[in-house]
Amino acid sequence: MDDLAALAAGIDPDRPLQFGRSTGTDLHVHVGTTPLGAGISGVPDGHGVRLRRAGHPFPTVHRGTGLGSVYTAAVLAAEVFKEIIDLAPNRHVKRDRIDLCPVTLAEPGVAAEISILDHHVLIGAGAIGTAVALILRELSATGTLAVVDPESFEEPNVATYSLGDLAAAAKRLPKVDILVQHLPGIDVRRHPIRALEYLNLVDNGNEPPPRTVLGAVDSIHARHEIARLHANLVLDGSTGGNVGTTVGLSEATFAGPCLRCYYPQQPSSKGQSAEQLLAQATGLRLDRIARGDLPLTKDDLRELSPNSRRLLSAHLGRPVCGLARALDLTARPDPGQFRPSIVFAAQQAAALVVGALIRHNTHPESISRDIEYDTLYGPQPGMVQKRNARHNCTCQTDAKLIQDVRARRNRHSTS
Ligand SMILES: [Zn+2]
Repeated sequence: MDDLAALAAGIDPDRPLQFGRSTGTDLHVHVGTTPLGAGISGVPDGHGVRLRRAGHPFPTVHRGTGLGSVYTAAVLAAEVFKEIIDLAPNRHVKRDRIDLCPVTLAEPGVAAEISILDHHVLIGAGAIGTAVALILRELSATGTLAVVDPESFEEPNVATYSLGDLAAAAKRLPKVDILVQHLPGIDVRRHPIRALEYLNLVDNGNEPPPRTVLGAVDSIHARHEIARLHANLVLDGSTGGNVGTTVGLSEATFAGPCLRCYYPQQPSSKGQSAEQLLAQATGLRLDRIARGDLPLTKDDLRELSPNSRRLLSAHLGRPVCGLARALDLTARPDPGQFRPSIVFAAQQAAALVVGALIRHNTHPESISRDIEYDTLYGPQPGMVQKRNARHNCTCQTDAKLIQDVRARRNRHSTS
């Protein structure tokens, strides 16, 4: 309990954990299979989750893994979110049960081991990237992992990332160093640079060509840079949708489908102002945003959609001009693509990434799953589709050239 209290204090000292007896009107959430009156219960089963609302019994479960634990926590958090936030009835479903393994995308069962990391690269140490790292740590993963991210860890990241606290933010450490700190069992090769600069290192033979890329970026532009690494396997996690609650995984490979096949459009490079972004993300009117030093009030929320009210209710009493920063809307390379991150969504996306990594140890031949579901509805049948390469994508039209580039990089790295 001391550890939990310290963790919470490191994220938000103004809202500490409270310990004590339930008053009877509280929402009762149980971690385990013997709920005894709990409204919602969840437990890891192997790499997966078993979630039950009151009155729905659990089957016998296997020993949970680190992936199962983080995925269960994220799925439980999403169900709690639905209970305590006033969401529109048509925008969510409270599930009586969820049974899903992010490795097999079927019922949880006996868990396969994660293999030693070797020539693996994580591009992006943000909301999804830190969640990937948390899961790798909890799985006691070993080996080498290159981590690429040019940014520093700052205060607005603390509430949306899975690693790092206010003390780390005060030091403005490079995000890659947050991962170095939290992954003692993995040889982390730190690259506080952009994906494009990392690509140049590979091209010049200064870095070995990555075989497996874990993508945790938030723009189409960055995904196109990842595609140019021409890796055997790319597992790209994403969050999106109107309010950032949709999670996805794109499985890609140099021979197609590549990440350009999944994300064919180049985003417009014409940036919008922070005020325009804030208006888009929150529904607040531009003339209200212009009076930025006035604190956000309940009156401001009255005419907004339920989603916007939910997004903003945590910021009541704070000046509107601080919202863009609080919602992590500033300094994005492709603002049109950006949605504020929600930690349980980022963690579910990360679980899909690591789940696919484990699956490809035993199923290396199949690379084309396109997975997407909204965490406010939970995993659904039909959330997995098979993707084919686009016939006019460069992975098809320049296939010979890409083979040559790969061969040259491999010669570089072995010479
Ligand atoms: Zn392609």
